[in-house]
Amino acid sequence: MSNSSIPDFPTDYKSIWQRVDEIDPIEYGRSRNYTEGAVTYLSPYISRGVISVKQVQQHVLKRGYPLAAIEKFLQELAWREYFQRIWQVKDSALLQDLKQPQADVAHQQLISSLANARTGIQAIDTAIQHWYDTGYLHNHVRMYVASLMCNIGKAYWHMPSQWMYFHLLDGDVASNTCSWQWVAGAFSSKKYYCNQENINRFTNSFQQNTFLDTSTELLASLTIPVELSETFHWQGSTTLPVRQEIQIDSQKPTLLYNSYNLDPIWRKDEDMNRVLLLEPSHFERFPVSEKVMNFILALSKNISSIQVYVGEVEELVQLCASSSAAKPNFISKEHPAFTHYPGLKDERDWIYPSVTGYHSSFFAFWKKCSKAIKTPDLFSGE
Ligand SMILES: Cc1cc2nc3c(=O)[nH]c(=O)nc-3n(C[C@H](O)[C@H](O)[C@H](O)COP(=O)(O)OP(=O)(O)OC[C@H]3O[C@@H](n4cnc5c(N)ncnc54)[C@H](O)[C@@H]3O)c2cc1C
Repeated sequence: MSNSSIPDFPTDYKSIWQRVDEIDPIEYGRSRNYTEGAVTYLSPYISRGVISVKQVQQHVLKRGYPLAAIEKFLQELAWREYFQRIWQVKDSALLQDLKQPQADVAHQQLISSLANARTGIQAIDTAIQHWYDTGYLHNHVRMYVASLMCNIGKAYWHMPSQWMYFHLLDGDVASNTCSWQWVAGAFSSKKYYCNQENINRFTNSFQQNTFLDTSTELLASLTIPVELSETFHWQGSTTLPVRQEIQIDSQKPTLLYNSYNLDPIWRKDEDMNRVLLLEPSHFERFPVSEKVMNFILALSKNISSIQVYVGEVEELVQLCASSSAAKPNFISKEHPAFTHYPGLKDERDWIYPSVTGYHSSFFAFWKKCSKAIKTPDLFSGE
């Protein structure tokens, strides 16, 4: 398998929109499950709030495709909102088994051969190595890795999901946690298994005689193969930039940006302080690699006159209060990771603002979305 087709992830706004222009939603529907398929590589920008799934959807719909021809693409965009709505409702309970306890758990650690890209399954090892190099892993390989880790290697999903989140440019706690739980059978009715034949088919590889070269039924009843038996305790830690002094104009409100909101056109024409807030407590809870942190900082450069503040929001409040007699005025975008911010919270840019709350299955959620999608004025403007 070649994963060399994974593109770079430029951080300037113009190149990001060029990538949106290149989406082929029809070919996407046919090939997205293949590692060489026509996926968009947009999640690092969507997860970080540079662009929204709504903007992407509107951009594609303007080209006039019949809805039925691009339904798969529209559904995948909706998965992001489905998981975000779950996070809104579940709050920190998102990080526990959502529907039922994961069955058949042998340990709560990480499997060494997966972490070291040495499982002996060539397509998986190559993909993991490329992921460490690029920060991107194809959806199908994420599923294979999670299945090997949790179902064949019998690890509890939580620590491995943190490890994956740590290394993903597109790390999104909702998509990540729910997907791991879905594969491990804690957020689905059964565990997901893949065998060598399935991996060969979707990764264009031809390997045989591996520990996965058997039926998925048999794999489900195996004891842990020796290739997945060594485990270790994984702990990520984030290297934050050194704190620099920032200048706040006390006459103006302050817009709070963060690692999930790096939108360069948010309140663009308003004259305000703009601060990228990197809270140590957030990154202690959800650590990210140096590559990911550099990506976040690079994306923030699209926002004019932004300043980076490393500290807790309370410290920033104090800093602003000390520079003014008036009460400091903050504005942020609503997000479940940042409910503790003070001040006004702008609504996020939802495709389906009326489809809210917890749905126990994506298809229950999608049924409501597909009704909304037929409302013509929903998709006007950008
Ligand atoms: C174990 C596991 C962990 C995952 N962790 C994350 C994560 O931390 N962050 C993250 O953004 N996604 C995660 N995903 C979902 C999915 O793998 C990625 O969103 C997708 O691979 C992103 O690549 P892309 O933009 O090229 O996707 P495309 O296939 O081109 O999809 C376009 C957009 O649709 C949305 N989308 C597509 N597939 C999914 C999906 N399965 N779930 C949610 N949204 C989807 C994304 O916004 C994506 O950018 C995870 C999936 C699995 C199985």
